[in-house]
Amino acid sequence: QWARIRGRLQAEVGDVEYRTWLRQMTLAGQDGDEITVNLPTRFLRDWVSTRYGDRLSALWQAENPAIRRVDIRVGNAAPHPAAAESPAVARESAARDDMPRRDGLARPDGGSQIGSGQIGPGVAAQSAWPDERAEARSDLAAPLDPRFTFEGFVVGKPNEFAYACARRVAERPSSPGFNPLFLYGGVGLGKTHLMHAIAWELTDRTSNPVSVAYMSAEKFMYRFIAAIRSQSTMEFKESLRSVDVLMIDDLQFLIGKDNTQEEFFHTFNYLVEQGKQIVVSADKSPSDLNGLEHRLRTRLGCGMVADLHSTTYELRISILEAKAARAGVEVPIKVLEFLAHKITSNVRELEGALNRLVAHANLFGRPITLETTHEVLHDILKAHDRRVTIEEIQKKVAEHYSIRLTDMSSARRARAVARPRQVAMFLAKQLTSRSLPEIGRKFGNRDHTTVMHAVSRVTELMERDGTFAEDVELLRRLLES
Ligand code: ADP
Ligand code: MG
Repeated sequence: QWARIRGRLQAEVGDVEYRTWLRQMTLAGQDGDEITVNLPTRFLRDWVSTRYGDRLSALWQAENPAIRRVDIRVGNAAPHPAAAESPAVARESAARDDMPRRDGLARPDGGSQIGSGQIGPGVAAQSAWPDERAEARSDLAAPLDPRFTFEGFVVGKPNEFAYACARRVAERPSSPGFNPLFLYGGVGLGKTHLMHAIAWELTDRTSNPVSVAYMSAEKFMYRFIAAIRSQSTMEFKESLRSVDVLMIDDLQFLIGKDNTQEEFFHTFNYLVEQGKQIVVSADKSPSDLNGLEHRLRTRLGCGMVADLHSTTYELRISILEAKAARAGVEVPIKVLEFLAHKITSNVRELEGALNRLVAHANLFGRPITLETTHEVLHDILKAHDRRVTIEEIQKKVAEHYSIRLTDMSSARRARAVARPRQVAMFLAKQLTSRSLPEIGRKFGNRDHTTVMHAVSRVTELMERDGTFAEDVELLRRLLES
């Protein structure tokens, strides 16, 4: 078998390439559905696993369909050096809920790196003992999504800067000017994707491995509170402070959570002082994160701040093309164009629509056409078709706050009418494509600066006052449905 596979590989890549990269590859063993092959150095291992890993797996599977994974490791026929796990496999197992590995025979570095099991998934995947790894997963470790890699990220004008910054940090963490890296942008534009990509990249490095802890701000808070409850805040602090790279996703969650913010602030300062890299994401820029402590906002803005802008039509097309190709499904360009026109809000929805099309096509064995698209996605498309008018908004909001509809355009300034009016302006801005002056005109010929002020006032209030925010959210949802 092995000889045949090698033969095929040699025939495919040619003698020179084979001799340069693959000749020293040895079969280390088989364990159930997993094959392990060895290469003598890390460099060779990396090279082979990125260039030939997929091909090798495919060849093995062709020989023996029962084989599910091919592990490429560093070693000389020694069966299982734990440190040399192939990136592909690390990804797979981290994503797959992470059963403890059978092969954690040796710790690569004498083992003090892990602390008490609190470090991120990538690290655990790379070097922990099985039990530690399980522990790490159960607690802090948010699993990294195996699809969220740099390779899987489609770059275009709206995200190229953020992408470049992320790449840079993945290559050289803690470079001056890039610490902290602050990524921000609206929902579904790729913040989490880029963060995972950085984490994958760093944990896949075999030379100079670093420990990465990735978690959502929510998880951070949850862990912090759990630590307080179990009187283990010291351990909690220690564990966070022992990582090389700390990544906190969706930091806006900490708004109004003062104690957690405080804790994060100290951790942040400590790590930066130690020359450790911090990566943070949020839905707004540091200066716009009202409700976050001023000193924290200041520090967050100190490194590199990168904005993920809303997608353009071109980017949406490229993303769809990439995802369709990845799924191995032929989707007519007309359909891609249609989707990119219709679903403009965020990439997640775009992807969801495409996935549904693909699933449908696979299930029924029918090609994807514009017609099937309409059929299969009609609920999604309908939601995106719906255009709320300013009049509808005014009516709904007036009803909700029990004021007269005419007060939407009246000159009255009493808080009881002025606030609902501001909410209506805010919603008009959010839910329609009208410009500020247009909106102003509909509200009794008010100036566009009045609308602007209303929008920022409502935004601010929503951040400060949860009940108010819920109210506005509710109105929004009512208007959208
Ligand atoms: P955010 O964290 O900003 O809300 P995510 O990173 O979760 O958004 O992205 C939402 C979905 O869209 C994910 O499945 C992600 O892979 C995908 N996505 C977003 N931007 C891109 C991109 N530029 N290329 C490929 N996929 C993307
Ligand atoms: Mg996210």
